[in-house]
Amino acid sequence: MSDGTDTPEELVRKAAAAGLDVVALTDHDTFDGLDAAVAEGERVGVHVFRGMELSCSRRGDSVHLLAYGANPSNTDLAGEMVRVRGGRMGRLAGVLTKLAELGVPVSEADVMAEVGDSPSVGRPHIADAMIKAGHVRDREEAFERFLAEGGPAHVPRYAIELERGIDLVHGAGGVAVIGHPWGRGREHVLPPAVLRTLVADHALDGVEVDHQDHDTETRAQLRTLAAELGLLATGSSDYHGMGKLDHDLGCNTTAPEVFDELVQRLRR
Ligand code: AMP
Repeated sequence: MSDGTDTPEELVRKAAAAGLDVVALTDHDTFDGLDAAVAEGERVGVHVFRGMELSCSRRGDSVHLLAYGANPSNTDLAGEMVRVRGGRMGRLAGVLTKLAELGVPVSEADVMAEVGDSPSVGRPHIADAMIKAGHVRDREEAFERFLAEGGPAHVPRYAIELERGIDLVHGAGGVAVIGHPWGRGREHVLPPAVLRTLVADHALDGVEVDHQDHDTETRAQLRTLAAELGLLATGSSDYHGMGKLDHDLGCNTTAPEVFDELVQRLRR
């Protein structure tokens, strides 16, 4: 619903075809695709676990917090998500100005055509408009040359302080797992001491270990640390359809016993 290239229903059908029996849908900062995905899951025999990926930050660095089983009607969480989505929309004009100055003009209308029904305007939509305009080959090139943090067309946006994000997810009955914490050379954002404090002070539930942004050594180190800290070690494909290469459905999975523990931790 946010920035994948399949609809929630298509995604669930592809999960069934890939032989998965449980799949989580975790769109960025929106729950909008979940009802459709769950209904399709019931039709094709896939258990759809309700999720969402909340935009958080720690000392200015972006951190993605996976919220599993959080109640969409929780007013504190829903209110913050409205603010985050407002920040996504609010930075668009600034990014487009920078892109124009860099000689790669795309209009807001071009981007909104890519956004479609998504309530969550993201850089991948800007990247898709850049591809259509012939400025870049794919999303990867758009991020590498222009949109990534530190890139020439990057504009920061509002995100929730990580500690507060974890508390909000818990307050909404959900389980909080940090997505790809050490991906893309970001170990310094969440070193072991910080993860230890997040467990001690905010009861962080887990870290995503098996993810394409983690190499074999990173996975081994993170898995050992997770065991030490009592964190659930999850895995996911982070599938975005055509939006991300090498993230095929089921390329990483969460062990059944870890999934069972996740379900046990839902604060109903
Ligand atoms: P945003 O939601 O605007 O902060 O953009 C984050 C989204 O961009 C996430 O879905 C990321 O997976 C995606 N993203 C980040 N870097 C890249 C990249 N190099 N290629 C494709 N997608 C990316």
